[in-house]
Amino acid sequence: MALLPSLRAALPNATIWDAAELASRDPGFDTRNFGASALVRPRDVEEVAALVKFCSERGISLVAQGGRTGLAGGAATSQGQVICDLGGLNRIEDIDPFTRVAIVQAGVTLGALQEAAAQHGLDPGIDLAARGSATIGGMVSTNAGGIMAFRNGTMRHRVLGLEAVLPDGRLFCDLTRVLKTSAGYDLKHLFIGAEGTLGIVTRVALRLDPVAGASATALVGVPNAASAQHIVRHFLTSTSARLTAAEILWRNFASLMQRSLNYASGSLPLDAPCLLVLGLGADSIEAARSALEGGLAAIWEEVGIVDGLVASSEGQAAAMWRLREETVEIERAHPMAPSFDVSVPAGALDAYVARIEAGLKKLDASYAPYVYGHLADGNLHISLNCEGPVPHERHEAIEDVLYEGLREAGGSFSAEHGVGLEKREAYERHADPVKRDLAKAIKELIDPGNVMNPGKVVG
Ligand SMILES: Cc1cc2nc3c(=O)[nH]c(=O)nc-3n(C[C@H](O)[C@H](O)[C@H](O)COP(=O)(O)OP(=O)(O)OC[C@H]3O[C@@H](n4cnc5c(N)ncnc54)[C@H](O)[C@@H]3O)c2cc1C
Repeated sequence: MALLPSLRAALPNATIWDAAELASRDPGFDTRNFGASALVRPRDVEEVAALVKFCSERGISLVAQGGRTGLAGGAATSQGQVICDLGGLNRIEDIDPFTRVAIVQAGVTLGALQEAAAQHGLDPGIDLAARGSATIGGMVSTNAGGIMAFRNGTMRHRVLGLEAVLPDGRLFCDLTRVLKTSAGYDLKHLFIGAEGTLGIVTRVALRLDPVAGASATALVGVPNAASAQHIVRHFLTSTSARLTAAEILWRNFASLMQRSLNYASGSLPLDAPCLLVLGLGADSIEAARSALEGGLAAIWEEVGIVDGLVASSEGQAAAMWRLREETVEIERAHPMAPSFDVSVPAGALDAYVARIEAGLKKLDASYAPYVYGHLADGNLHISLNCEGPVPHERHEAIEDVLYEGLREAGGSFSAEHGVGLEKREAYERHADPVKRDLAKAIKELIDPGNVMNPGKVVG
């Protein structure tokens, strides 16, 4: 029987779209997401298992998709493949305010969990700009990081347990709700960051944290990243308030955002080599604002702060955050230009940015990268100011400039977006060879038929 009729016969109650329906819908962040022959949206874990078995028995590639906000091409599909859309598994099954644990299905969006947890004065402890669409299953599968990772860790550190359907249809069930379990290999970590190559995550147990009563925002101009890190250290050691965000924007990126968002000059302190968006939580908004003002004043001279403003309204705070979060403006200005996501060890940020700016200029005098990111954990996002796609050889040369020496220095060529398709070649050239061998062996053991998201991460 042809693919679509057999899928409908095997999963009579699931939503199923064919290629024509896929072509008429929004594929999400990556235009390649809807290249498959069919999309199936199971309603529960049993239907996920039935779909996995269906595909495994026929050797059909299966690609899991959540919110389709991934930035590494991990959810891209092609003809002959089937998408497993987790949108039907969208229930928050439990939030226990006493133990601060949530049990959620994989298709729940981060935003929905944030809202539900807030009803109990709690928060998932992880945040990113794509919160309205990104799902917990997708975030687990890419080991998402985001704005609060410097304090709370990445998704890997928030997951207590998880459940996943294996390529042979069996259920890997480790829904531990406790922090401590030292019972042999902690296999759930294999699925965290696997980008759907080892199985389909269906349910997750997550830690929740208490939320601060209110938070204040400041935009601070500094001469360099070292000054910005000095400010971060100061607030991290503060006992009266809690640092919740520290995002850095180099001038070239900040200027593009200012122009794209039509911010009048002088409306915000934007004229400095680096800008820092700071978030500080405290019991009340007054306490948070006062802690930000007092803290900045105390180190103003010592750190060489160029300019700074503590937001006096929610609107002003939102305007500061838009400068950092509306990164879609880069794609508007430079469609398909390559972008990168690296981790640089603390203390080496200024030297790294100076090195890559010089290295890229050597490749092409017009290259002036947009650099911004999560300052406190050294995760920088870099986009090029050219029209994409760039030829393959040039792309490799750019990667060599950006990734050279990173691993040896203790950093990473892929910080939080994953490997997907975009960094497949970089993975072969820049990841540790022993690690790559082990990863391949694990993939072959768990997915011998190479059914789960083939061609991604390990190949
Ligand atoms: C504006 C914007 C801001 C962003 N900011 C950040 C940020 O600060 N930090 C950060 O880390 N990321 C960020 N991202 C990237 C993205 O939001 C994350 O990678 C997110 O984790 C992807 O979730 P998703 O549900 O959209 O996954 P998708 O894009 O649908 O899928 C991503 C990968 O996970 C796999 N997958 C999805 N669901 C499952 C599942 N249930 N089981 C197994 N595999 C699955 C897919 O096959 C694919 O390989 C941002 C993206 C955008 C568009």
